[in-house]
Amino acid sequence: MTQSFDHPLEITGTPPPMVSFRNVCKAYGSLVVLDNLNLDINAGEMVSIIGPSGSGKTTVLRMLMTLEQINGGVIYVDGKPLTHMPKHGKLVPANQRHLRQRRVDIGMCFQHFNLFPHMTALENCMEGPVQVLGMRKPEARARCEELLEMVGMIDKKDQHPSRLSGGQQQRVAIARALAMRPKVMLFDEVTSALDPEVIGEVTEVIRKLVSEHNLTMLMVTHQMGFARDISDRVCFFYGGKIEEQGPPSQIFGNPERERTQQFLSAVR
Ligand code: ADP
Repeated sequence: MTQSFDHPLEITGTPPPMVSFRNVCKAYGSLVVLDNLNLDINAGEMVSIIGPSGSGKTTVLRMLMTLEQINGGVIYVDGKPLTHMPKHGKLVPANQRHLRQRRVDIGMCFQHFNLFPHMTALENCMEGPVQVLGMRKPEARARCEELLEMVGMIDKKDQHPSRLSGGQQQRVAIARALAMRPKVMLFDEVTSALDPEVIGEVTEVIRKLVSEHNLTMLMVTHQMGFARDISDRVCFFYGGKIEEQGPPSQIFGNPERERTQQFLSAVR
């Protein structure tokens, strides 16, 4: 696979898609993980990715986080290239400075919450806005307290992560990501490492984000019922490609592709 620069410098449209994968390829050695992926996500849309293990779901999120380079294609966020930058009227692979600047548009919550253990819940949330965005502490504190309130964790704001349950830590992690005011929020199996009795409190927070905030969200999940409830669109991944996508009613109620049908009957 060779890097192709045959892509527009900007994605237009009114408004442009918030996220746009254009012919994105990713391989590890000879293993092709994303195979010419095209995916547009509109502003305010909640898109869930489902599919068998190894189908490339997490890789989509990792590429958006610019944790690794793609091998082909371009990813745009808010109409502007993320993985590339314009130079002499062409797109060239982004340098570290460009990536650092653009990465703040993307917020991510992982399966493992990775809170800083030596900081309280509030300090965890304030760290990014103060250190990365240069926000003044009183302003950051007010914003983070508001977010901790939103995720139902204001009473525990002065606790360290070790004193919090998994569900509580995950709610703090969501508040911490939102504190950076991302344009796009990514959720990667955020309930997979949780005890069953606390899964509901985390899904409730995400549900609230969907209904009350106009955020663009991309979620990888194994919880089919949850994906069905809250998504505007569901993408079924197979072999690094979107095998089928559509509204939850279509994907879960009347899937057209045989692979989708097989996957859903195996996981239900
Ligand atoms: P999914 O999230 O659908 O389970 P992933 O996106 O995590 O799938 O992985 C897709 C494929 O890429 C898998 O076969 C996985 O083993 C492989 N893979 C992921 N990361 C790496 C890596 N850093 N090095 C080599 N192979 C990897």
